[in-house]
Amino acid sequence: MTVARFWRDIPSRYNLYGSRCSGCGKVYFPMRHICPECRRSSIGKMQRHRLSGKGRVHSFSVVHDAPPQLAALKPYAVAIVEMDEGVKVTGQLVDVDIEEIDIGMGVEAVLRKIGDEGPGGIIHYGFKFSPRFD
Ligand SMILES: [Zn+2]
Repeated sequence: MTVARFWRDIPSRYNLYGSRCSGCGKVYFPMRHICPECRRSSIGKMQRHRLSGKGRVHSFSVVHDAPPQLAALKPYAVAIVEMDEGVKVTGQLVDVDIEEIDIGMGVEAVLRKIGDEGPGGIIHYGFKFSPRFD
């Protein structure tokens, strides 16, 4: 990823911004400019919406055969998380034993290093999901 692309993406990467249709109230992530439900009538009515970061594990899979840059992490779990707002977001599950992951488990988004571009290179951060206990 280029530096310019990375900096452009920062607001949504760091704050989990999606969009909300002010017509029907549905929340989308990633952001959309048009609501698929309201179509034309939603043009110009989509608002930036910050997700709470809280959700539940909808499904997950354990990755045993990782690409070289992620080999040190394996095995690791990647989940589809259904956020409290109803949208589904894919992310790695961290801070939990793989055997303890359950469908429906409460999780929250946490900011973590997701990669770097070698010694002296840029370190990228993004969201992963960690268990929550409330
Ligand atoms: Zn709508």
